[in-house]
Amino acid sequence: MERHDVIVVGAGITGLSAALDLHRAGREVLVLEADTNVGGVIRSEAVPGVGAIDLGPQTVRSADPALFEHFDSLGIEGERLVAGAQGKSRYVVLDGELVELPHSPPALVASPLLSMGAKLRLLSEPLRGTRKGEDESVRDFFTRRLGAEVAERLVDPFVSGVYAGDPSRLSMEAVFPELKSGVDEAGSLLRWGLARMRGSNRGSGAEEKRPAELFSFPDGLARWPRAMAAAIGSSRVRLGHRTLSARRDGSDWIVTAEADGERRAFSCGRLVLTVPAPVVGEMLEGASGLADIPYSPVATVHLAYDRADVAHPLAGFGYLCPARERREALGVLWISSLFPERVEADRVLLTTFVGGARQPDRAFGGEGELVDLAYEEHRHFLGAGARPVHAQVQRWERAIPQYEFGHLERVAEADRLEAAHSGLHLGGAWRDGVSVPDCWEGGRRLAREVVAAGAEEAPQYDQTQSRG
Ligand SMILES: Cc1cc2nc3c(=O)[nH]c(=O)nc-3n(C[C@H](O)[C@H](O)[C@H](O)COP(=O)(O)OP(=O)(O)OC[C@H]3O[C@@H](n4cnc5c(N)ncnc54)[C@H](O)[C@@H]3O)c2cc1C
Repeated sequence: MERHDVIVVGAGITGLSAALDLHRAGREVLVLEADTNVGGVIRSEAVPGVGAIDLGPQTVRSADPALFEHFDSLGIEGERLVAGAQGKSRYVVLDGELVELPHSPPALVASPLLSMGAKLRLLSEPLRGTRKGEDESVRDFFTRRLGAEVAERLVDPFVSGVYAGDPSRLSMEAVFPELKSGVDEAGSLLRWGLARMRGSNRGSGAEEKRPAELFSFPDGLARWPRAMAAAIGSSRVRLGHRTLSARRDGSDWIVTAEADGERRAFSCGRLVLTVPAPVVGEMLEGASGLADIPYSPVATVHLAYDRADVAHPLAGFGYLCPARERREALGVLWISSLFPERVEADRVLLTTFVGGARQPDRAFGGEGELVDLAYEEHRHFLGAGARPVHAQVQRWERAIPQYEFGHLERVAEADRLEAAHSGLHLGGAWRDGVSVPDCWEGGRRLAREVVAAGAEEAPQYDQTQSRG
C-alpha cells in the first residue's frame, strides 16, 4: 500500500489550492481525482473557428491582492484577460424586454425597472423592523425590507445568476451571513450600508483596496487549475482515480480508490476531502447530513454565430431572467463581448444557462432540445437570424450546492466529523462559499489547518529532491 503524508481527494479549485499550499509548505501530498482533467467544474476547450469555450464558470471576480500574488507565483498573472467597460452593463428581462440594470441611485430613479410605487417603498426601508436571531429566506428578507418588486426583479435574477437557486428556499443566514447580521445589528440596510461606506473610507491608505476585476484567461479559466497542477507536479496528481471510501485505521487513514478498473489502497496521516458534499456522505460513515445538502443541476449551452447573423450590438455582460418572466433559460452571457480576445474576430459566442433549482428537469433535456431552447432565446432577444455555426452542451448534474434552510446545521456536521476523526479535513463549495475565489480561499484554509495540526507530526519533506 502506498503511504503519503497528506492525501487530497478532488482536484477542483478547492483541492488544488489546498494541495499547492501544502506542497509549498513542505508537506508530501498526493491528489486523487476521479476525472481525467483537473479543475472540477472549471473546464475549458479550444474549438477551431470559434475560440476558447468555458463549459462551467465563465468569469472570476475578485479584488483580493493575495489572489493576484498567487497568479504571479504561478507565472500566469500577466496572462489574465480583464473584462473592460462591457462587464458593467448588465440586463434583466422585464415584461419580455431587456432592461439595463441601473448603476447608481439616480439611475435607479430614472430606470423603468421599478414602478414609482416600488421606488417610493424603498424610502421606508429604515422603518422596517429586523428579525434578529431568526433565519428567513432570501426572498422574504428582501421583500420585507425593499418590497416585492425589488425581490422579484433584482434579487431573484442575481440569486439565479450566482446559485441557480430559488430565493424562497435559500437561507439568509447561510447565503448572506454578513449582510444579515449587519442589518440585524444596525437596524436597517441603509444604516448598515452607510456604516460600511464610512468604514471603507476610514480604512483607505496604505492597504487601499484595488477595485474588483472580472477576468478570465486567453485559453479559458482552466488555465488556472492546470497551472496549479503543474506547480504541484504531475506525479503528485493522479487522474482517473475515483475514491470509493475512507476509513481510519490506527493513526492512519486508509483510502480505497478505483483506477483502470482496479481497486487501489492508499494510506495517509491527514486526509483532505474536497469532493461535493453527497460524495463525502458516500465515502465516510456518519456523514448523512452532508449527503443531504441539495445541489441544483445546470446545463450550459454554448452557441457561436457569425457576427453578421446577430442583430443586437451585445454591448455588455449579458442578461438574466427573473422567474416571474417564465423564460426557459436562466440567462445568457455575451462571452465574445466580455472577452473578445478569446473568440475569433468574426464570431459571437453566447453561453446560455438552463435548469437550476426551479427548473431542474430542463438541465437534463436532450442536446438538440437545449440547443433549440438557447437559439430561441437568442432569436427572441438578440435578433439571431441564422442557426449557430457551432453548438455545444455541457450538463452539470451537481452544479452548485444550495444553501437552503438548515444548511448551517448540515455543515455543522463537518465540524463534528473533523472533531471525531483526527486527521480529517473537509472543504469545498458546499462549505466555503460557491464562487471560485471562495473555493480557492477554502483550499488555503484547509492547508493552514493541516499545517497547524500536523506541524509536530510530519517530517519536513525536501522539495528540492522531488520537484517534478
Ligand atoms: C455551470 C457553472 C457556472 C459557474 N459560474 C461561476 C462563475 O461564473 N464564477 C464563479 O466564481 N463561480 C462559478 N461557479 C461556481 C464555481 O465554479 C464552483 O463552486 C467551484 O469551482 C467548485 O470548486 P470545488 O473545488 O469546490 O468543486 P468541484 O469543482 O466540483 O471539484 C470537485 C472535484 O472532485 C472530484 N471528485 C468527485 N468525486 C470524486 C471521487 N469519488 N474521487 C475523486 N475525485 C472526485 C470531481 O471530479 C472534481 O474534480 C459556477 C459553477 C457551475 C457548475
